[in-house]
Amino acid sequence: MKKITGVDILEDEIKENLTTRNIYEIFNNFIIPLISEEERDFLENVEDFLIKKLEPKIDLNKDVYPLFPILGKKNYIQRLNQYGDTERFGMRYEMLLAMATSIMDPELDLARVVSGDIFANPLFLHGKGEHIAEVLDNVMSGEKIGCLCITEREHGCDAVNMQTTIEEYEDHLILNGEKVYTSNGPIGDYFLVFGVSNKNDPRGSMYQIIAEREMEGIEVNRLGIQSIPRVQVGQTIFNSVKIPKQNVLAARGQGYKNLFSGLVAERDAIIGSSLGIGWLTAITALIYTNLHTQFGRPIYDFQAVSFPIAKLFTELMAATELGFKSASEYRKTLKYSDPKFIKYNAAFSSGTKFLASNLAYKISYETQQLCGGIAFTDNLRIDKALEVSKVQEIIGGARNIQLYLVSRGIRDIVKRLALL
Ligand SMILES: Cc1cc2nc3c(=O)[nH]c(=O)nc-3n(C[C@H](O)[C@H](O)[C@H](O)COP(=O)(O)OP(=O)(O)OC[C@H]3O[C@@H](n4cnc5c(N)ncnc54)[C@H](O)[C@@H]3O)c2cc1C
Repeated sequence: MKKITGVDILEDEIKENLTTRNIYEIFNNFIIPLISEEERDFLENVEDFLIKKLEPKIDLNKDVYPLFPILGKKNYIQRLNQYGDTERFGMRYEMLLAMATSIMDPELDLARVVSGDIFANPLFLHGKGEHIAEVLDNVMSGEKIGCLCITEREHGCDAVNMQTTIEEYEDHLILNGEKVYTSNGPIGDYFLVFGVSNKNDPRGSMYQIIAEREMEGIEVNRLGIQSIPRVQVGQTIFNSVKIPKQNVLAARGQGYKNLFSGLVAERDAIIGSSLGIGWLTAITALIYTNLHTQFGRPIYDFQAVSFPIAKLFTELMAATELGFKSASEYRKTLKYSDPKFIKYNAAFSSGTKFLASNLAYKISYETQQLCGGIAFTDNLRIDKALEVSKVQEIIGGARNIQLYLVSRGIRDIVKRLALL
């Protein structure tokens, strides 16, 4: 891995021990009791591949996108849906892939999840026809990049009341509007866009469509997001873009249902990335504090260092167990159409996403303070991970929106019992 610009001041012994291989070894000790034999085999294969084929190609001065085709060659752009001849797919496999990739390169994983899961999952679930299959092939190979366009300047948390319009004609649609914070947007090839034909009835008139880079009328400008410099995030303007009918994933009204069901998968995939960041920074701190000395002894010997680290590990183990539980529950959202169950799952995934992304931030922030100045340099991966964790907490819906969904979910239970 090629680092940024700073000089190396890490002691040789610590550097030799702080390898990704060692971080994975420690991670596996915690994770293996929670997963099946097949999942363990998958995880170990992913880790081995990332160390041998991906890590030597990572350059922290460059965008993450040239790394996509490396992942694509091994069918590691995503593992949520079945693609290719593998039987190892589903949300639990996706979470393992996200954790392993995030431990190695959290910015790469963020961009991968957007293209491989958040963009592609609706195509797997709702897409039909040869053209959609071709789009999926391009994205799964890592050669082309997908992104999602929900958020607008005045409609972020209030996503439903979007102002982007879609007019339907006999053989095409016309898309007009501006979306912001489009991750991967400035470099993206495909844009999964939500828009409405009647702004006064967004629920009844929402569409979900795919716009493509070469279509006339698309303008993408990069936003200055400083915490993830290797991921391009943009403002995306659609100026009377003509969309062929084969690019419609959800017709009038169905878009609203797809928007909300898609958010559960989005949140679950982000949980995997956040947990990966938590493990990366917690294990880095564990190794570093056991080898770095002050006052003639490893700083881990001071309980003021080891107790907070132990506490963070305890919380992370609990959050990881919960993350796997939410991944297992996700399968049921696809199987059952009972609204009670769908609501429960929306609240459960929101609560877990809130917890995991907030914990990733907390662990990164706290371990930075516990390790000291070195953790502010590029000699350790903690500061980079801390920056990415901030973004993980806002994408897929701000913290308050996750808590809103939880609060509504738990209130519904009381309501059903007729206490209110
Ligand atoms: C780096 C980055 C990447 C992103 N990637 C994508 C992407 O790829 N595609 C996409 O569509 N979007 C993306 N987003 C957008 C992200 O999902 C939104 O930022 C998020 O949904 C919040 O919307 P907003 O920023 O417009 O905040 P606003 O809606 O303006 O809200 C601002 C703040 O007000 C508070 N708030 C608002 N409403 C309520 C309420 N009802 N109750 C309590 N508190 C409330 C919250 O604290 C919130 O953070 C990205 C954002 C960032 C920063």
